[in-house]
Amino acid sequence: MKKTILDYFLKYVKIDTMSKEDQNTVPSTLKQFDLAKVLVKDLEDLGLKDIKLSEHCFVTALLPSNCNSKLNIGFIAHMDTIPGFSGTNVKPNVIENYDGKTVKLKGIELNPIQFPFLTNLKGKTIITTDGTTVLGADDKAGDANIMTMLHYYVNHPEVPHVNIHVAFTPDEEIGGGIDYMDVEGFGCDFAYTVDGGNPIEINYENFNAASAIVSIKGVDIHPGSAKGQMINASLVAMEFNELLPINERPEFTDGYDGFNHLTSVEGVCGEAKLTYILRNHDLKLLEKQKNDFYNAKEFINKKYGKDLVEVTIKDSYLNMATIINEDPTCVIRAKEAIKKLGYNPVTTPIRGGTDGAKLTQMGLRTPNLGTGGYNYHGPYEMACLEEMELVTKILIEIAKEN
Ligand SMILES: [Zn+2]
Repeated sequence: MKKTILDYFLKYVKIDTMSKEDQNTVPSTLKQFDLAKVLVKDLEDLGLKDIKLSEHCFVTALLPSNCNSKLNIGFIAHMDTIPGFSGTNVKPNVIENYDGKTVKLKGIELNPIQFPFLTNLKGKTIITTDGTTVLGADDKAGDANIMTMLHYYVNHPEVPHVNIHVAFTPDEEIGGGIDYMDVEGFGCDFAYTVDGGNPIEINYENFNAASAIVSIKGVDIHPGSAKGQMINASLVAMEFNELLPINERPEFTDGYDGFNHLTSVEGVCGEAKLTYILRNHDLKLLEKQKNDFYNAKEFINKKYGKDLVEVTIKDSYLNMATIINEDPTCVIRAKEAIKKLGYNPVTTPIRGGTDGAKLTQMGLRTPNLGTGGYNYHGPYEMACLEEMELVTKILIEIAKEN
């Protein structure tokens, strides 16, 4: 398996698939088709069925069950790398039997004081960048893991497995690509994105999200004759913000803490507008955060004896756990697989959105699994080969029919 996964991985990371913000097309960059075509070829070489490459750059395929299993399980990884840092001309640096010490790259170094996890990787094989690009382990480690799992089953027809559906998707890093996924056509009972880090971690809780717009009307009067008359909307806006709990600002939160994040302020004397995003894993606590906004509005309007403040709150998306918990088979199956391999699975809440959260809302329960990659979204990105292999074993175990 070692050679297979490394071969796939090194081949994929060398293909530039950077996505780009603010494009009107999906995929946002045509070069994502370069990897898509290579994946199609690899799927053809493995003899998969129903191989498709859609106009929006989704690669899908099926390895039909070799037993009487009727279960359809999907495995999904994205092809693009982040727009923020170069993914062009990636030169992966494979270090076997890593000594646990500082790795010098061009202009930067990976050192165990800054990255303490490096010490745990002593003796293993790590793959780093040359210091000038991302590695693209996010998410080509996921692509390679899925392909290696397929490679295993194609070469082990004696091991019974479910119907294995795979999808390689565009534009995850800029969001929105997954909206073009044909969920019904994918035909799965549930699926997994393979797009995390830690191999034994499962993520199926993300934020419930809402946004708030606070509009403030002031009383705009010539400052020379303003006494007792003027109400400066910008100052009222500052007052409003001060009424919200300080410890619920993003910079004071982590884990399961929710937050209210002030994303923009516009204001003159006559009017002002504050825009916030509200996030919480717990829907009840999100309601409490919303109430804080309404209470602040009431307080200010009473204080001034005028309806100066208006609050408009809109819900954006839900925690996928709400839907998954109605039928947690997908999470249970992943946990069992990890346990069978001798590890204790951990579940960690996601403090953002994932393609899986969207898919879950589109009707396909999709928790997220690890890949064996580290330090995503910059030149420090790297992967551990043994951890990637463990992920492949977990995927094999999930697809196995018992
Ligand atoms: Zn990713």
